[in-house]
Amino acid sequence: MEKRYDLVIIGSGPAGLAAAIYAKRARLDTVVIEKEMMSGGQILNTTDVDNYPGLMGIGGFELGMKFREHADKLGAVFLEDTVSEIRLEDGGEPEKRWKLVMGEKEAYRTKTVIIASGATHRKLGIPGEEKFSGKGVSYCATCDGAFFRNKSVAVIGGGDVALEDAVYLSGLCGKVYLIHRRDELRGAKSLQELLFSKENIEVIWDTVAEEVEGEDKVSALRLKQVKTGQVWQLEVQGVFVAVGITPNSQAFEGLLETEQGYIRAGEDCAASVPGIFAAGDVRTKPLRQVVTAAADGAVAATNAERYVSRFTG
Ligand code: NAP
Repeated sequence: MEKRYDLVIIGSGPAGLAAAIYAKRARLDTVVIEKEMMSGGQILNTTDVDNYPGLMGIGGFELGMKFREHADKLGAVFLEDTVSEIRLEDGGEPEKRWKLVMGEKEAYRTKTVIIASGATHRKLGIPGEEKFSGKGVSYCATCDGAFFRNKSVAVIGGGDVALEDAVYLSGLCGKVYLIHRRDELRGAKSLQELLFSKENIEVIWDTVAEEVEGEDKVSALRLKQVKTGQVWQLEVQGVFVAVGITPNSQAFEGLLETEQGYIRAGEDCAASVPGIFAAGDVRTKPLRQVVTAAADGAVAATNAERYVSRFTG
């Protein structure tokens, strides 16, 4: 007979893994669908997570693995698949409708769904960015920083990720330029202090990148000072783009209400269709951190359990 689940969790970052832990403790028949057999989400690319309570300074990769190990120990089941859509079965009241989570490999029939699909790097969209991607343009300092040992690199952005990347790269590279479009950084004050303490980091304010230049690999960035309009060239061998994230919600846009791409859901994580929840970075929320993603996972799984107990389909 076809397998039916209580809960399908889409994504295995901190939100999905926390949801899996809570779901297993609630004895829900659960499966976690992940795009690749690698749990942890964005923190896998984070050097140090310095604000997860009780685990000061833990490496992002290590924290991701700890979450996964915890879910594994409770018996969570993980499947590798890519979800393209969620369909609602016909008719009936909200508490009766089965959901079909459409993967590439199979369709998963379930009472409830937690979408914890996270977010991915935003692109600049300037000439040369795509051409030199992997040839000097990178979106992950911890993955690619070592290729630029003792070289000059630019980090673009002014948020937490840009500041963390610049600080990390300052330990490897000869010179790090942080290029920010305003005269004030968005990232945490503690990170700003750390950044300003590094002698080989120079912040270039009120400036945007207009083009990545080079022959077969990056040799320079064409920059524009937004207040004066002055255009100039900065010689760098590497460009690290850290200009924010885009929610991975495209697969659900027709079904669920969204706001600037984020799935609309309040603190109860309930999305606009009963029995579907959004947790972590993909949800509309004011603070996107590991700790808030994990908290969302717990809330979503607890509310999914309540929904399952009322389900009569
Ligand atoms: P973010 O906070 O949205 O910052 C993006 C930065 O890029 C901003 O400074 C923005 O400038 C700039 N920017 C955006 N589009 C640009 C463009 N086209 N050209 C030039 N600059 C552009 O994104 P993030 O740093 O990736 O962080 C994402 C989320 O993860 C945040 O909520 C952050 O707090 C969180 N995070 C948490 C931790 C942690 O828990 N330890 C670590 C890293 C990140 P403006 O400032 O002018 O808007």
